Amino acid sequence: NCIIDGCNLVKVYQNGIEELKVLDNINIRVNNSDFIAILGPSGSGKSTLMNILGCLDVPTSGQYYIDGLDVLKASDNELAEIRNKKIGFIFQKFNLLPRLTAVQNVMLPLLYRGVEEEEARELAREKLTILGLGERLQHRPNELSGGQQQRVAIARAIVGNPQLLLADEPTGNLDSKSSEDAMEIFKELNRQGNTIVLITHDIEVAEQVKKVVTIRDGRIHESH
Ligand code: ADP
Ligand code: ADP
Repeated sequence: NCIIDGCNLVKVYQNGIEELKVLDNINIRVNNSDFIAILGPSGSGKSTLMNILGCLDVPTSGQYYIDGLDVLKASDNELAEIRNKKIGFIFQKFNLLPRLTAVQNVMLPLLYRGVEEEEARELAREKLTILGLGERLQHRPNELSGGQQQRVAIARAIVGNPQLLLADEPTGNLDSKSSEDAMEIFKELNRQGNTIVLITHDIEVAEQVKKVVTIRDGRIHESH
């Protein structure tokens, strides 16, 4: 039932001769269907932790298991496969491809996995329509508002039914109305059984999430 199991995670960056310990013995467990916010100020190590949880980076020491697989023993190919098949990523800056339409952006992860084009297009349309973008399928990112772009990015993250959604400051570039809309989408996805880890520096965002873990200076301070 445990999708994320991180134990004694340490991350040290080397800055010239100086060592910067950005994560200091972090323990974190996330079960299937959990919705967890990691709350902390800028510079507290949230992005570093998120990159490790998302298998984009490895810890300096500690153990990390994702869905039972020992990440530190996995090959680059295995890690790429985990990222592509098990995890949906959502970023502060949306990270959509500017030359592609909404529907093409959402199709992309399916095409990478070898899903046939017509089927990918249909699934992408379906997700975008559910997220209220049925009238925006052929728009490019610069023709969409920030809130709409983030909904395209959410559609892209969920279209392949990943086991885990990782959202890094997903509301950081949104106005308050779009931010609320995005949070409602995450809550609904969680009600449908999706596992979500969301990082934020915004207390109002974190307060809407079932479980909050606070990080400060690379240490987890309190959980409630
Ligand atoms: P947050 O996401 O909470 O703002 P980060 O994980 O981005 O925190 O950064 C934590 C600390 O680690 C900051 O002091 C940052 O400057 C430093 N840091 C992040 N990435 C690197 C890196 N690649 N090399 C050196 N220092 C880094
Ligand atoms: P965020 O807004 O997510 O906290 P930052 O703007 O702090 O991100 O950092 C952006 C990128 O730069 C990240 O990939 C981070 O790892 C890297 N980074 C941050 N601080 C440093 C640093 N002191 N030295 C090298 N790379 C850094």
